[in-house]
Amino acid sequence: MDGSGTAALMRGMIALTEAQEFVLAGCRAAEPVGVAVDDAYGLVTSAAVTSTEAVPPFANTAMDGFAVRSVDTESAPRRLDVVATLAAGAAPDVTVGPGQAVRIMTGAPMPPGADAVIMVELTELAEDGASVEIAQSVPAGNHVRGAGEDIAPGDKVFAAGTALSAGHLGVLASLGNYEVQVHPRPRVGVISTGDELIDGPGALAPGQIRDSNRHTLLALVAETGAEAVDLGLVADDEAAIRRAIADAPTRVDALISSGGVSMGAFDYVKVVLDELGDMRWMQVAIKPAKPLAFGLVGSMPVFGLPGNPVSSMVSFELFARPGIRQMMGYREPHRQRLSAVAATDLRRHRDGKTHFARVVAEPGGDGRYRVGFAGGQGSHQLHAMATANALAIVEDGDGVPAGEPVDILLLR
Ligand code: AMP
Ligand code: MG
Repeated sequence: MDGSGTAALMRGMIALTEAQEFVLAGCRAAEPVGVAVDDAYGLVTSAAVTSTEAVPPFANTAMDGFAVRSVDTESAPRRLDVVATLAAGAAPDVTVGPGQAVRIMTGAPMPPGADAVIMVELTELAEDGASVEIAQSVPAGNHVRGAGEDIAPGDKVFAAGTALSAGHLGVLASLGNYEVQVHPRPRVGVISTGDELIDGPGALAPGQIRDSNRHTLLALVAETGAEAVDLGLVADDEAAIRRAIADAPTRVDALISSGGVSMGAFDYVKVVLDELGDMRWMQVAIKPAKPLAFGLVGSMPVFGLPGNPVSSMVSFELFARPGIRQMMGYREPHRQRLSAVAATDLRRHRDGKTHFARVVAEPGGDGRYRVGFAGGQGSHQLHAMATANALAIVEDGDGVPAGEPVDILLLR
């Protein structure tokens, strides 16, 4: 272990990975349920999906044109008799015989007898519609989409653990699977604590500030795909905090609070959570967001995030978001770590902690992002966090000089 690691341990801090593992161990994937396809966007399948139908269900034409016997086109240019017209949705009621063609629209089933389609641009229909001039020969199968060419009955379409994107929902609908087995969307409650906080446009009395954390955290929860539930603003009052936390399991599956987890004299969140739940209070070797409480009240995971606005957002990114994603069944709940390049010096001082700098990441020509500070790096300077689209992971030391590699977590 290097000197800074030892120093960190001496100050009672634990490594980020240890804190993250502890949090994830308390966040179990919710019991699977059947969810309507239209409610399943962003949810994760709990079982493999197997097809019972073919897609497409029948051979059909990929083009507007004429369904023909390919042998009849070998002597093109040539005139064929038009014996029917088939629109999408119509069932074929004629067989294409020698010297015959059926006028056909994209998506219509191939009529029996025909084995190819010649597109309308290569044909000329007679004025009376009774015959058509074919300009070119076409091979068998030309512009024909075979039955089951996309998905065959019995195909394993998606594995368990698939995060459902828009395309996945379309596939499920095309198979007639209007309900899918998934881990349900957890309801995640958010409370703010602090006597200094007010909500609303009124003038601030001396010492007051406006509650910003609840608004950012509700949006961050929604962004994970969970259902965000506003559980309000709670004063630094032991009884009020107890009521809010004790009531939470009736309304939500997980709870996020901000504020009141530091060493202050009125940090009652700590007192109440210790009484109601099985909590661990951590000092994580990171900056911002060193203090973190995590534990269970009954079976409900509770994230006690620090009150400083930037700290609460960074803490959400590093702990709450992965916890929520794991509850949703995501197999890889952490954000992807990318290798980037410092565009300017990312200076810091040695303090035994890993710094998560708020940076703006812009694509570089070599496919790696170039990153620079998004603004002031104080844990109260939310503006830089709002401007940032990434967190740069600046390890303990003097920082990363311009031009040197640095890993980032891309936030959006
Ligand atoms: P605490 O963690 O309660 O000691 O709060 C640390 C700092 O964050 C203090 O300056 C608080 O006023 C501030 N703070 C706490 N909660 C919020 C909030 N919901 N919105 C904005 N600032 C907050
Ligand atoms: Mg406070």
